[in-house]
Amino acid sequence: MNGAIVIAIDGPAGTGKSSVSTGLAHALGANHINTGAMYRIVTLAVLRAGIDPADADAVVSVCEQTDFSVSFDPDHDTSYLAGEDVSDEIRGEAVTLAVSAVSAIPAVRTLLVQRQRELIAEAGSVVVEGRDIGTVVKPDADLKIFLTASAEERARRRNAQNVANGLGDNYEAVLADVQRRDHLDSTRAVSPLQAADDAVVVDSSDMTQAGVVAHLLDLVQQKVGVRQ
Ligand code: C5P
Repeated sequence: MNGAIVIAIDGPAGTGKSSVSTGLAHALGANHINTGAMYRIVTLAVLRAGIDPADADAVVSVCEQTDFSVSFDPDHDTSYLAGEDVSDEIRGEAVTLAVSAVSAIPAVRTLLVQRQRELIAEAGSVVVEGRDIGTVVKPDADLKIFLTASAEERARRRNAQNVANGLGDNYEAVLADVQRRDHLDSTRAVSPLQAADDAVVVDSSDMTQAGVVAHLLDLVQQKVGVRQ
C-alpha cells in the first residue's frame, strides 16, 4: 500500500464486525485494532478488583491504573491484562454483562479514546473496529463503514457460535442480550452508537462474511484507491 490508511468499522454487537475487520486487515496487509477488547479488558480488571461497575469513581481509578494491551496482528486478536493473556476470559458472560456499564462512564471513554488514538498513530495502515471510531476516535479516517444486521440475524449468528463453542443453545436469551446491549450503547450520553454522517452503511443480514469483506475491499478501492 502507498501511505498509511485508516479504516473505521463501527456497528452494533453481533454483525460479524470482528471477523470482517480482521479479514479486511488481512487482505490489505494492514494492522487491526479491536477497541471493544480494550473496554472488555478494563471491565475484567474492574470485576477482578471486586468493584461495582456502577461505581464510576472506583471504575475510573481502576482504569487509570490498569496495564493492558491489545495486539495489532489481524491473525491473532490477543488481549493482555498486566501481561496475562485474557483473550478468552474477556469474551465470557461476566465481562459481557458488565462492559456496557463500564463503557458508558465518560472518564473511561476519555482515557480509552486517547489510548486508541495513540495506537492508531503507531499502527500505520490499520482497520479499527468499535462503536465510535468514525464519529469520535478518528473522524478523519480514510473510509468509515457502519456495519449493521437485524437484531434477529445477529442473535441467530451469535447463538450458532455459542452452540459451536459448546456454550449452549438459547436463541431467546441471546436475542434479549443483543437488544439490551444495543439499547445501552445507543442511548448512553457520551458517544452513543450511531453511524457517522459520511459512513457507508453496510447491512450484512443477507451477506456471507466473505461477501462483506469483498464488498469492503471494493469500497476501499473506490474510496482510497488501494488494493493488494
Ligand atoms: O465489540 P464488542 O462487542 O467486544 O464491545 C464490547 C462493548 O464495549 C460494547 O458493547 C460497548 O459497550 C463497548 N464499546 C464501546 N466503544 C467502542 C467499542 C466497544 O463503547 N469503540
